[in-house]
Amino acid sequence: MKISLNQLTIAKARQGFLSGAFTARDLTEAYLKKIEEKNADINAYLEVFDDAESQAEEADKIIKKKGAESPQLCGIPLVIKDNILIKGRCVSAASKILEGYRATYDATAITKLKNHHPVFLGRANMDEFAMGASTENSAFGVTKNPHDETRVAGGSSGGSVAAVAADLALASLGSDTAGSVRQPSAFCGTVGLKPTYGSVSRYGLIAMGSSLDVIGPIGKTVEDCELLFSAMAGRDPLDSTSIEHSERVKKPMPPFTIGVPGNFVKEGVDADVVANFRETLARLERAGLAQVREINLPLLPYSLPAYYTIIPAEVSTNLARFDGVKYGAHVSGNNLLEDYLETRALFGHEAHRRILLGTYVLSAGHADAYYNKATAVRALVRKEVCAAFSGKDAVDVIMTPTTPTPAFPIGEKAQDPLSMYLADIFTVIANIAGIPALSVPSGVTVRDGKSLPLGVQLMGAHRREDMLFAVGSAIEQVRG
Ligand code: GLN
Repeated sequence: MKISLNQLTIAKARQGFLSGAFTARDLTEAYLKKIEEKNADINAYLEVFDDAESQAEEADKIIKKKGAESPQLCGIPLVIKDNILIKGRCVSAASKILEGYRATYDATAITKLKNHHPVFLGRANMDEFAMGASTENSAFGVTKNPHDETRVAGGSSGGSVAAVAADLALASLGSDTAGSVRQPSAFCGTVGLKPTYGSVSRYGLIAMGSSLDVIGPIGKTVEDCELLFSAMAGRDPLDSTSIEHSERVKKPMPPFTIGVPGNFVKEGVDADVVANFRETLARLERAGLAQVREINLPLLPYSLPAYYTIIPAEVSTNLARFDGVKYGAHVSGNNLLEDYLETRALFGHEAHRRILLGTYVLSAGHADAYYNKATAVRALVRKEVCAAFSGKDAVDVIMTPTTPTPAFPIGEKAQDPLSMYLADIFTVIANIAGIPALSVPSGVTVRDGKSLPLGVQLMGAHRREDMLFAVGSAIEQVRG
């Protein structure tokens, strides 16, 4: 049975199942074959589960019994980022320190997906503990960009995204703390959603920055992301920061008002990225789908420094639990202190850097100058950004490019943390403000004879994912 994986979406796969054109088992086998052929080149998977076919057979039974009444995601092959817990399976956050650890419970997002009976194909590579923008910080090797294997896939959810872009899974889950779903999506040509903070439970997500982390879906279309988001969203008693989700009955209709923080999109941004961004806006306007308005948000540039002060603080706190006693690897020294020190030496460079910085910015005597100041800046940025969505000059969405450059060569930024951090300049805003944001493919640029995807980012008001999906679909319509 030959299935054209590169044309497939969740809706089309479901049609295939319901019409009897192919089964979930056929589809799973097609993906397993592709993984076998291609994963060694791009390193998107850390593990392929050996029970994928039997999961698919279970789904086929449900589809056979319930037909169109079966859950929307029944039999859909997914790959899950290696920091989201699936009961009984290994999970490592791509770190040596968690080697051998098996999850003892399901993340709430996984529990909710399991109600749909999808097929979990495996776990995806990532930057260690989700720190990075290139997947070069994985303890298990870099994930390569399927469009040019000399370039990064982005990060930290590089494996989840590259798998979808290379047809090694139909859709996936990542996590986004400052751009980790959206930045790789822009680099690889997928759609990625960072939901409103709290709208998808963090229970069972290995914590990086607890006040910023959110699980988000990655797919080939806006519709695919919407389906996954609806399946996962909602208040969870196991995560006190989670919030209710209610589907809105009225779909937002064009023309949409798009706010563009023009000054912020100019400096230091690749010329092709700016041209593609402007062209996307022009196409939306010409099609009568949007009105574009320049807006002034002078505090935006402060999001990045605020984030890179807050995140080490949260990382140093969250990673304190990995002491060789409770989870994963344990290295024995001559006494308890040596046990701790030698076990924690298993962390990679970036984890060490952030633990040191975080301990410093939180320390007595420095907390006021750094952590507390960054928290105050965060409150100001949030206020300014959120104000753009209300009042008489309200915009429906704020649009920026997703990334300042297309995918960069492997190794280019690995030794220069500051330039790596700058990759988050546009995406970090939504995490600092707690609002939802969507990256949508917007075209390509040619580098070294290869076509590299570009993406634009839409940010919306708190809990207005529906608006992002509506404007995102409009971009899909006008894309050349
Ligand atoms: N690049 C960012 C960082 O390294 C983003 C990480 C993320 O979103 N998980 O902190």
